[in-house]
Amino acid sequence: MAHSSYAVPMLLEISTTHSPATDLGYLLHKNPARLQSFEMSFGQAHVFYSQANPSRCTANLLLEVDPVALVRGQGQSDGWLEQYVNDRPYVASSFLSVALARVLRDALAGRSKERPELAKTAIALEARVTVLPSRSGEVFLRQLFEPLGYTVTTTSHVLDSRFPQWGDSHYFTVTLSAVTTLSSLLCHLYVLIPVLDDQKHYFIDDEEVDKLLRFGAGWLESHPMRQEIVQRYLKRRRHLTQAAFDRLVPEEINDSELDSQQTKPSLHSQRLETVLLALQASGAKRVLDLGCGEGKLLRLLLADKQFSEILGVDVSHRALQIAAKRLKLEDMPERQRARIRLLQGSLTYRDSRLAGFEAAALVEVIEHLDLARLQALERVVFEFAKPKTVIVTTPNAEFNATWDSLPAGQFRHTDHRFEWTRLEFQTWAEAVAARFGYTVRLTAIGKEDATLGAPTQMGIFEVLL
Ligand code: SAH
Repeated sequence: MAHSSYAVPMLLEISTTHSPATDLGYLLHKNPARLQSFEMSFGQAHVFYSQANPSRCTANLLLEVDPVALVRGQGQSDGWLEQYVNDRPYVASSFLSVALARVLRDALAGRSKERPELAKTAIALEARVTVLPSRSGEVFLRQLFEPLGYTVTTTSHVLDSRFPQWGDSHYFTVTLSAVTTLSSLLCHLYVLIPVLDDQKHYFIDDEEVDKLLRFGAGWLESHPMRQEIVQRYLKRRRHLTQAAFDRLVPEEINDSELDSQQTKPSLHSQRLETVLLALQASGAKRVLDLGCGEGKLLRLLLADKQFSEILGVDVSHRALQIAAKRLKLEDMPERQRARIRLLQGSLTYRDSRLAGFEAAALVEVIEHLDLARLQALERVVFEFAKPKTVIVTTPNAEFNATWDSLPAGQFRHTDHRFEWTRLEFQTWAEAVAARFGYTVRLTAIGKEDATLGAPTQMGIFEVLL
C-alpha cells in the first residue's frame, strides 16, 4: 500500500433555513465568503460554504486526516500504521470532535459576538456527516440521535471497493435535522460521533471525563442510552466511566466538584441532614418534600417515626419513578407504606392536595424555575399550602468563585435559571416572609469560605401567629 498518498476526508455539512440563513456565518464565526484552513495534529481542517443565500446556508467542515503524518508524529511502527490505515474512518470520526472543539469553539460553547441571542435560539438546523462509521449499525445510530429530537436519515455505503473487508453495513451518510440551537447540535455531534465507533486504541485520561460531562451537560443526564454513551466515549475504562457516572446525576444537583473541596460527608448529604434537623425541630408530623427529585430526603424522613405523613411532589415523572424504585415502595410493609405518597404536580399551580401539612422543604428547587414562575410557586407554597414551617435551600452564587472548573458567570447546573448571592437570597426571603406573614432565619450549609460564604444557603420560614 502506498500510504503516503492517503489523506482521509470526512465531511460535516451544517445547514440552516432560518431566515436570514447567512446568519450562520455569525454563529460559526466563519465568513461565508472565505475558505479557511487549519493545521491540525492529524492533518488539516477546512471550513467553507457550499451555499450562502438568505433562504439556505450550508457550511462545511472538511477534515483531511493524514495517517502518515500522524504516525510520523507519534513515532509508531509500521505494523501499527497498517492498522491505522485500515481504521481510518474511525480516526476521522474521533478527530472530527477534536476539530469541532478547535475550529468551531465559540459556536460549540453557544457564543456569538454578533448574534448572541440567535446563538441561544432554537433554529431549523441540519447536519450531514459523510462518512460515519457505526459498528453497531443503523439502529444504534438512531437510538443515539432520535431521543434528542432529530429526524435521522441514513444511507449506507460501501466505503471503498478496494477494501471489501470493510463491508457495507458499518458506514453511513447521516442527515440529522431538528429545531435546536447550533451549540446543542455541535455538542451532540462532539460526543456521539466518537461513540458510534467502538474502537479502543487511543489514549484517554481524566480530561476526557470532563469533556464528556461538559459537552454532555443538559442532555446526557437524561439520555436513554447514557450508559452506553459514557462507556463507549470513555472506551470502557472502568475508573473513568465510574467517575463519569458518579458525576452524571439526572435532574439532580451535581455537587461533586464542590464536594472535592468539602470534607466528608458530601455536600448533598450535609444539606439533607441539615434540612432533616430543621424539620425535626419544627415538630411537624405531616411534611411535604416539594421538588423531591429522586427521593433522598424522603428516605431520611421515612426513617424517623416523628413524620407520620410524608408527601413527595415533583413535576418530573421520571424522577418520581426513580424515587419509588429507590424507596422500594412496592415491597414496603403496609404500615410504612401508609406514611408516604408521591405526587406528580407542578409547584407553580395551586393544588389543594398540598394543604394541611405542617412543614415543607424545597431543597435546591427554586433555582430551577424562571423568576416569573417562582412568583407563582411563592403563592402556591406560602399562601395556599401555607405550612407552619417552610425550609428553602439554594446555591450561594458567590461560592462558585472557588470552583475552578466553572467559568465565571456560569451556573452549577445547566437547568438552573438563576443562582443568588447571599444578599439576593436574603432580599427574596425577607420579601416573601413579609408578604405572606412569616418570619425567616437564614443559615449556611457546607464548609464556609471566609469571604464567599458557604456553598449552600438555607432559609427557615415560620408562620407568624
Ligand atoms: N430536592 C431534590 C431534587 C432537587 S433538583 C434533592 O435535593 O435531591 C430540583 C427538582 O425540582 C427536580 O426534581 C425537578 O424535577 C423539580 N422541579 C423543577 N420545577 C418544578 C416544578 N415547577 N414543580 C415541581 N417540581 C419541580
